Amino acid sequence: MHAIRDLKKILIYFPIIAVLFGIGYYMARLEQEEKLGIKRTRDLMGSAIEIQVRDKDKSLAESAIEEAFNEMERIENLFANYNDSSMIQKINQSKDTLISVNNEIYALMALCDSLWQMSDGAFDVSLNKLIKLWGSESDSPAVPKNEELEVALRKSGWDNISLINGNKFLRYSEVELNFGAILKGYGIDRAIDVIRKQGIKNVSVNAGGEIKSFGIDWVIGIKDPRDSEQVIEKVLLGKMSIATSGDYENYFELDGKRYNHILNPFTGFPADSVMSVSVLHPSSAIADALATAVFVLGPTKGLELIENTTESEVFIVDINNRKLFSKGFVEYRN
Ligand code: ADP
Ligand code: MG
Repeated sequence: MHAIRDLKKILIYFPIIAVLFGIGYYMARLEQEEKLGIKRTRDLMGSAIEIQVRDKDKSLAESAIEEAFNEMERIENLFANYNDSSMIQKINQSKDTLISVNNEIYALMALCDSLWQMSDGAFDVSLNKLIKLWGSESDSPAVPKNEELEVALRKSGWDNISLINGNKFLRYSEVELNFGAILKGYGIDRAIDVIRKQGIKNVSVNAGGEIKSFGIDWVIGIKDPRDSEQVIEKVLLGKMSIATSGDYENYFELDGKRYNHILNPFTGFPADSVMSVSVLHPSSAIADALATAVFVLGPTKGLELIENTTESEVFIVDINNRKLFSKGFVEYRN
């Protein structure tokens, strides 16, 4: 919290307003317009979600923000793994092999299927057995035993899923779904849509450093993964969303070793070749998923993935603190 206040103190001397969040901070450029803005925060999807709207019609802004939060809550209730009544948990707990889902779940699964293929299996939303074993989402994470890891690996992996037309899919080897690496991004996309449908032209949504905006000209600061008070890159978002996966926000340490919550689907172990990955893409869901994929693939293959993906850019800090950029990243630098 001190960092937030100190930063504000420094920045107060400039005609900008800054806020520091989980992974990044962002600055609103137009102080005048900021005065018309409304900012609301709600805890959803495991993050403090902040929505800012600038519109002269305050009551429209308030109701649009409320609607957007409700939409994110609806998505959380549909997909969350920590909620036993969610559709996804019901699927995970059933023994069925042929499963029917609604349009929305099927559409997100189809997107995840493409992302799995594009990333050569690095992004995989069927790792729930492995995720539970490591317990990185629990209060007592631990390094699993080899035998346990083997079993969980066998019961994980998108090659055990095949999508069938008509909102159905086949599921083998008891694999379980976990959309944690794309859900916040997906929720942000939906939230922005809901607010724009109300005719609002200036909005931004920030979910712990995953940010998408419309109309508002945001400059995003990316933190140094080993010194959260230092900003190492600034990005002017434009039509892009940004998603950052870092090894410093969500990890546990054992015997001096850092274990991250992003897993390599092939080894079952936490990915450890980069410290931080920030991806730019017009879709927040895709940016979120690609950041996770690059985190797993590491700097060389990760850069390759982004160079081969249209409309996406990446900034990587590898494990040796080397900074790598995709070719077009420079256009967004500020
Ligand atoms: P964050 O939530 O910090 O932004 P991510 O978007 O990378 O991080 O999502 C990490 C979450 O995704 C993990 O907590 C886990 O639930 C799940 N996950 C872990 N490894 C993978 C992977 N290789 N592919 C897809 N999802 C993963
Ligand atoms: Mg992600």
